[in-house]
Amino acid sequence: MKNSQSLPIKGVWNKLTIKDLNIRGKRVFIRVDFNVPLDENLNITDDRRIRAALPTINYAIDEGSKVILASHLGRPRGKSDKRYSLASVARRLQRLIRKEVTFLPDCVGPKVEEAVSKMAEGDIILLENLRTHSEEEANNEAFSKALARLADYYVNDAFGASHRKHSSIVGITKLLPSAAGFLLQKEIDYLQGVVNNPVRPFVAILGGAKVSGKIDVIRNLEEKVDKVIVGGGMAYTFLKAEGYNVGDSLVEDDMLDLANEIRKGVVAKGIKFYLPVDCVIAQSIEPGAETKLVTAQEIPSGWKAVDVGPASVKLFSEAIESAKTILWNGPMGVFEVDAFSRGTFAMAHSVADAYALTIVGGGDTDLAVSRAGVSESISFISTGGGAALELLEGKDLPGLVALTDK
Ligand code: AMP
Repeated sequence: MKNSQSLPIKGVWNKLTIKDLNIRGKRVFIRVDFNVPLDENLNITDDRRIRAALPTINYAIDEGSKVILASHLGRPRGKSDKRYSLASVARRLQRLIRKEVTFLPDCVGPKVEEAVSKMAEGDIILLENLRTHSEEEANNEAFSKALARLADYYVNDAFGASHRKHSSIVGITKLLPSAAGFLLQKEIDYLQGVVNNPVRPFVAILGGAKVSGKIDVIRNLEEKVDKVIVGGGMAYTFLKAEGYNVGDSLVEDDMLDLANEIRKGVVAKGIKFYLPVDCVIAQSIEPGAETKLVTAQEIPSGWKAVDVGPASVKLFSEAIESAKTILWNGPMGVFEVDAFSRGTFAMAHSVADAYALTIVGGGDTDLAVSRAGVSESISFISTGGGAALELLEGKDLPGLVALTDK
């Protein structure tokens, strides 16, 4: 259910936002996250991250500023490399924004400075991949200065990179008045504002591969949620810890005691804790593999759980029925394989149909929701993987902390 209620944000936004800056006629360096997936022919396979930055870019253009965009793409490891060039991103952006976008083959240096000095109001430049210089990831001061020299103001709209202490995220903020763009604001408002002050009942659905990757999320959320639903690969460590035979399912044996401790701790707080009651099993995680549906207590050895079954989907769907806020992080099964995707897609539909404020954050869940065809019915889908996870773990994002205080 899309935006069924107003945001219950109690926290005060204490950092400058782009609207606080007088950017008319000024050079604005906007750090965006254009780290989009490319296929083997370097075609963009998913441009949602580019689209998500459009409100900030359009605002800056409408305000008559000179827009300098910078991003990373993959890991070129400090070298110029065609496979990680933002050239195709510039072409896609140009199509989306219906304005000329000038692509520069580097991100610092005299030629870049010269091109910037010739910009007119409303012009857009996209710089080449920041990570073609190793100084970017080292948060090198000279590199931060070289970037800062290009602009009068700095705007961070790269939520997906804001957990990194890099030059274009942190270093540059020491040198220019620095504000948040609309995407960064929205991400924080939902993943921190709503999650910390949810309208109750608040239900968290957690899935994905491993418990170890989500321990801190559970620890942080257990102070806030009314129900926790655990599916995906991580469920089988919890089930094994309860004494069930989980066959060859993904299990982190070194996490068994911790899983038990966490489940008991959550339940002791009066929070309802749900695990799968049935699952789809296969002998290998491959398309075409034979599958069976069994109860969660009956996974034979030689078989692994690859999806939650229909009884689990019903149980989980009923658990979210009365929710007013739902947070979903992590798929319910190996949804990349069609035969193992039903549980994840069915949950996507249940979340989309719920009369609640719904937040999908982190990892592959956004892809699952998009493949299920329900993205439009989700209140907010985060663009960040690691950054979303860190916020959900209750950590501060260096890129947000570094912005200028109001
Ligand atoms: P994460 O990045 O931790 O959210 O994990 C996402 C990955 O978990 C996806 O690629 C899924 O294929 C995988 N996954 C989900 N359920 C299972 C499962 N039952 N067994 C193995 N992997 C799983």
